[in-house]
Amino acid sequence: MSIHRQKQHKYYDKKYPKQRQQWPGIQANMTPRPDCGEKSYIGAERLVGRRALITGADSGIGRAVAIAFAREGADVALSYYPTEEKDARDTAKYIRATGRIAMLIPGDVGDEEFCHQMVHDAARTLGGLDTLVLNAGYQQHCDSIADLTTEQLRRTFDVNLFSMFWTVQAALPILKPGASIITTTSIQAYQPSAGLLDYAASKAAIMAFTRALGKQLAPKKIRVNGVAPGPIWTALQIAGGQKQSDIPSFGADTPMKRAGQPAELAATYVLLASDASSYTTAEIYGVTGGHHTM
Ligand code: NAD
Ligand code: MG
Repeated sequence: MSIHRQKQHKYYDKKYPKQRQQWPGIQANMTPRPDCGEKSYIGAERLVGRRALITGADSGIGRAVAIAFAREGADVALSYYPTEEKDARDTAKYIRATGRIAMLIPGDVGDEEFCHQMVHDAARTLGGLDTLVLNAGYQQHCDSIADLTTEQLRRTFDVNLFSMFWTVQAALPILKPGASIITTTSIQAYQPSAGLLDYAASKAAIMAFTRALGKQLAPKKIRVNGVAPGPIWTALQIAGGQKQSDIPSFGADTPMKRAGQPAELAATYVLLASDASSYTTAEIYGVTGGHHTM
């Protein structure tokens, strides 16, 4: 089998069974379970001695990044919503199996005070911080702007965007030259869906935040970059992110004709965290199955 064929057939490409969970969703209860690289990611000492805080680290993309960072040699603080304890403990188990520290920080990143506390607790336990992955995200599908509540609007922006401001404000006095900040934006920033008005707007704002902050922090030698995923099979999608009727064909409209798995994102975050990307800042990397960002 050629390398090309192996890659095309490595991940799930069939229809997804309809399934609905209450927000924020537990990935351990999904069918099929998202692949976060638990069995596949192999580290190569790219992040030895690094101390990373990752938000939304219990499941999905955040979990894939957490596992990869630990296998690359980093200690990791895992931020997640308190009801996600089960997924968070699973993630911590994979990190501890590498011999690295996994610190659990449950709480609501939509709360400014919590964001400050989270940064200070992480830095105290890990002995400093040099890598921030701002990945927590809130997505609720809503067909019409007429039905969009102010509560949802505020929640989307608090969690997706304002948490990034608050977390970076708290972390800035701690971060040293060489530090790396990575945000998770979305293909939605470039090609917004009709039913994801608030979410897409928040992700476009994250793109601008990433680019502006990259320029602002370049003189401090702190790099800031973003990752823009396409459709990825995660709990976010089955906990209100998509209409149930769209679940079976989720991701099938990409040129690769399938959704991605969180594991397929991890290497990009590792690259952006590591010194190998020392001349890269204020950039957004797309991982979209071919629905390119521009
Ligand atoms: P996920 O549900 O596995 O992860 C999202 C995480 O965000 C949750 O696990 C939760 O821990 C965290 N979170 C949400 N609200 C929170 C709050 N108030 N307080 C604390 N934590 C909170 O789903 P995912 O798809 O891996 O999402 C990770 C990121 O990727 C999000 O920013 C999402 O917008 C982005 N993204 C996902 C896709 C996709 O198709 N899945 C596509 C583009 C971008
Ligand atoms: Mg989760």
